[in-house]
Amino acid sequence: MTSPESLFAVPDAEEVRIRIPRYDRPGPRYTSYPTAPVFSEKFGDEDFRRALSLCRDRVLSIYIHIPFCERLCGFCACNRRITQDHSVARPYLDALQRQADRVAETIGGDRRTTQLSVGGGTPTFLSPEELDRMCKIIDARFPPEPDAERSIEVDPRVTARDQLEVLRANGFNRISMGVQDFSPVVQKAVRRNQTEEQTERLTREAREVGFLSVNYDLIYGLPFQTVDTFRETVERVIENRPDRIALYSYAHVTWISKQQRGFENKDLPEPERKVAIFLTAVEGFEKAGYRFLGLDHFSLPDDELAIAAETGDLRRNFMGYTTKEGVDLMAFGASGISETAEAYAQSTRDAMEWQERIVGGTLATMRGWWLSEDDKRRKWLIHRLMCQGEVSPSKYETKFGEALSDRIPDLEERLAPFVDDYLLAFQDGAYRVMPIGRVFLRVVAMTFDAYLPGQTGDRPMFSRTV
Ligand code: SF4
Repeated sequence: MTSPESLFAVPDAEEVRIRIPRYDRPGPRYTSYPTAPVFSEKFGDEDFRRALSLCRDRVLSIYIHIPFCERLCGFCACNRRITQDHSVARPYLDALQRQADRVAETIGGDRRTTQLSVGGGTPTFLSPEELDRMCKIIDARFPPEPDAERSIEVDPRVTARDQLEVLRANGFNRISMGVQDFSPVVQKAVRRNQTEEQTERLTREAREVGFLSVNYDLIYGLPFQTVDTFRETVERVIENRPDRIALYSYAHVTWISKQQRGFENKDLPEPERKVAIFLTAVEGFEKAGYRFLGLDHFSLPDDELAIAAETGDLRRNFMGYTTKEGVDLMAFGASGISETAEAYAQSTRDAMEWQERIVGGTLATMRGWWLSEDDKRRKWLIHRLMCQGEVSPSKYETKFGEALSDRIPDLEERLAPFVDDYLLAFQDGAYRVMPIGRVFLRVVAMTFDAYLPGQTGDRPMFSRTV
């Protein structure tokens, strides 16, 4: 990856600024390739069992999905179940335990965990005792490596110090909290009222109990956001100095997330303003010393992610950017997507149905995909682009024993517009991502996606790139 520098430090900057909005289009985030819409419902439990039996890595990455939330946020596009009834947690954890037993039996051996991520929903919907039980379910079957990365998503509105203490006692070292936007006007519109004090308190307590890294999730493109209001949010965020920041684009997908119909289209920032909000945030964070890792991720220079970006060790999986290489990812809970070298498998999305199917003795597989040789090669190319910021024909040929031009004959022609607009540069025999290209990595990656031409329909399947 390139070092931080002004995004538009290019010869004809003003013309490039005018052309840039054309790259704001629907596109996958490429946490997997092929992407989830390609997965097939013909892929069932038997396939998943076979994929598990083929797992070679001795270490695992694990994701646990806790789908429960007490209240629905107006912008939410996550897989969640809204309930104030906390008694739902116990049977869910019972099912999680059964699923962990089943996976452990199938993959066999002494698998250890190098990365554990818990997301949702709201994982801190669980009480301290339930969080402790969740950790013990996993650790008893897949013990953590001594230097394992263990992270959890929390909601500052419902997370208490005793929950943080239990998590820390169970080895959690990273915490990620939803912040979205500090503006009260925006918060009211999206029905998520969260004071600056709640965010600041949780950040301070997380550090006091010993978490090594604090991440904030922000969202731009929400109703009533302006460049000025979001600049203020960026300034407040910088004062709290989170180690990492994820700045997500709001995906307005009313045909998937019905509660988003509460917003009027006219209240959403129009595309040019949305791009301006994003670029203002990038400039604000870079000026404050954060490294822009690409796509929508930032970190302080001494954070593991920034160091991995510097040394070329950045990796990407369903949990986003990580420093952990080539491990099989096992997902537990409703809607989780597991990834092995040969296949992807996703569990049933509905929490109740998932529980019933697990209790009924299955793996609750909803869909999945066996990777073809072509998939593996394109996956490698997309991964190199998104993590190392380069596409090198010679490295591809060394790895796969074929010329890249044999796999994608018109590649040069297809990448030429990105070179003209300074998203990419051809240097030392490889295409390298330039500063403005880090914003539009998804668009460049789409060049390598063999399935996109067939994924047409009345409605976009993916969120917009900005
Ligand atoms: S807390 Fe997160 S998962 Fe739950 S409703 Fe809000 S955005 Fe969705």
